Amino acid sequence: MSARILVIDDIDANVRLLEAKLTADYYEVLTATDGVTGLAIAASEQPDIILLDVMMPGMDGFQVCRRLKDDPLTRHIPVVLVTALDGRSDRIAGLEAGADEFLTKPIEDIMLFARVRSLTRLKVVLDELREREQSGRRVGVIGGVASRLAGAGGRVLIVDDNERQAQRLASELAVEHRPVIESDLDKAHLTARGPVDLVILNTTSRGFDGLRFAAQVRSHEGTRNLPILALIDPDDKSRAIKALDIGVNDVLARPIDPEELAARVRTQIKRKRYTDLLRTNLDQSLEAAVTDPLTGLHNRRYMTSQLDALVARAVRDGRPVSALLLDIDHFKKINDSFGHDAGDEVLREFAVRLASNVRAVDLPCRFGGEEFVVVMPETALGDAERIAERIRMHVSGAPFRVSSGKEVLSVTISIGVAATFGETDTPEHLLKRADEALYEAKASGRNRVIAHAA
Ligand code: GH3
Ligand code: MG
Ligand code: MG
Repeated sequence: MSARILVIDDIDANVRLLEAKLTADYYEVLTATDGVTGLAIAASEQPDIILLDVMMPGMDGFQVCRRLKDDPLTRHIPVVLVTALDGRSDRIAGLEAGADEFLTKPIEDIMLFARVRSLTRLKVVLDELREREQSGRRVGVIGGVASRLAGAGGRVLIVDDNERQAQRLASELAVEHRPVIESDLDKAHLTARGPVDLVILNTTSRGFDGLRFAAQVRSHEGTRNLPILALIDPDDKSRAIKALDIGVNDVLARPIDPEELAARVRTQIKRKRYTDLLRTNLDQSLEAAVTDPLTGLHNRRYMTSQLDALVARAVRDGRPVSALLLDIDHFKKINDSFGHDAGDEVLREFAVRLASNVRAVDLPCRFGGEEFVVVMPETALGDAERIAERIRMHVSGAPFRVSSGKEVLSVTISIGVAATFGETDTPEHLLKRADEALYEAKASGRNRVIAHAA
């Protein structure tokens, strides 16, 4: 998996060294030797990852990081801060500035590539979410909300069989979060499927295989997106790299520094909430794509996709699908006499009556304008006709109230009914027969149900 990486470092030799290493591993490299240029390149070139030196004259790495994370154009790009070897305070300041990862100088190749790989994976997920989301909605809305997302109040699952260590972690985290401890891996799995924002996993336990647990969390549908912070021994580099390759989001070396723990946990929770938000927005835009905004019923597109599948199944199994095509009588007159808003109210009220007079398995949809369709799986023509008659009576039987003019008006509908038959029937033919029946209902006086006898 390749990626474009922007390297920002004021020392030219450092830039060229990183460029050489990354290029040799087939990464595409962009470079800048000061913060201002780096910010401009980040915004215009949209790299996948930014490697950012902390110590730079003028604007330092923390400031650059903060600016990157404040800008909706660059907020989503993972930032790796390159700090001095003993840079504990640097790391904490960096996390506060929104950095995603750290590398210490001199940079070790295997850690560099492990971090880059794990961030490339994260970036792929973020990009996909953002891209799908953008097609449904403007991204500025998200940016505005995301910047206010907090990293506190998280539900943290501590998976550790070292009781003392787990208790210490829990009491430190309890200041800001709601930690729970689980020492049994099976139980931990169950808990992880519930409302959890972060797993802190001891990978050094002798009692259980932490890396295996991490791999299972990643592969299970319900926990795939749950962030994991792995506890490792400070000199166990190979375990750290393995953990990152399995898909652990961050590693923390023992002995645990409380401030670093707090900052890393906050970063992971914030990121989780950002991706959750993108996912929710995505679900909403998917929802919008299948829903009619005026009535809240399914729209024509959704109805068509469902009908295709249902008719195919009906033809195969020989169990009929019925369709009702409903059209409000003289609807134009309602608009003309009471106004378009009143017409809308009638449509909404009709949708409520329609939806409450069909069965749970039926699919009421707005086909367009004042035409509606109900798809009825496993329903014969005669049954569909009876349901249609019930709907017709519930519409004509009680007047519609229109709030704008406090008017009460009587509304009637005409309904055409058809059912699938034979082995070659298609959704188009089914709807066409329902339409012919509807035409007949209109022509023979309206306010009636006509079933199309195949
Ligand atoms: P018929 O009994 O033959 O069906 O007569 P009709 O007046 O109901 O049918 P026609 O197709 O002539 O007119 C439908 C009207 O519905 C025309 C259109 O302006 C109106 N309409 C379509 N969509 C909407 C909508 O979303 N809101 C409102 N208020 N009116 C709509
Ligand atoms: Mg009409
Ligand atoms: Mg019409």
